[in-house]
Amino acid sequence: MDIRLGNGFDVHAFTAGDRVTLCGISVPHDKALLGHSDADVGMHAVTDAIYGALAEGDIGTHFPPSDDRWRGAASHVFLDHAAKRAADRGFRIANVDLTLICERPRIGPHVDAMRAELARILGIGRSRVSVKATTSEKLGFTGREEGIAAIATAALVSP
Ligand code: MG
Repeated sequence: MDIRLGNGFDVHAFTAGDRVTLCGISVPHDKALLGHSDADVGMHAVTDAIYGALAEGDIGTHFPPSDDRWRGAASHVFLDHAAKRAADRGFRIANVDLTLICERPRIGPHVDAMRAELARILGIGRSRVSVKATTSEKLGFTGREEGIAAIATAALVSP
């Protein structure tokens, strides 16, 4: 059995706006996230964790920000690609675990929807997808509400 672990980390800064997209879920907020794509920091971290487990670089390797095709892209395109790469390599995704780091917006009310959306894209059961949230106790850039950080782990198994 071949077992792989990968980690992913991402940050996006806040800009003016009225909602953020996190794990494919539109969450009302008094700011938006700035990015080349839809700036879905959570989905990016999970995607990079899967690429990491495969030792196949990161989102930028497969979807260069210099390529205008990905401007404003919905991030499920990236996650779907990573999941397909895993399947093509003979791996199944055993589980993913994501932590979102921000003071606001509140993540708790949206966790179930986020888990369901990630599980749908990955083609795995919801019990294999964890979404958690924490603050940084008002310290650092997340504490000052300048942006959102996300850290993810993915485990892949090949028989
Ligand atoms: Mg990103």
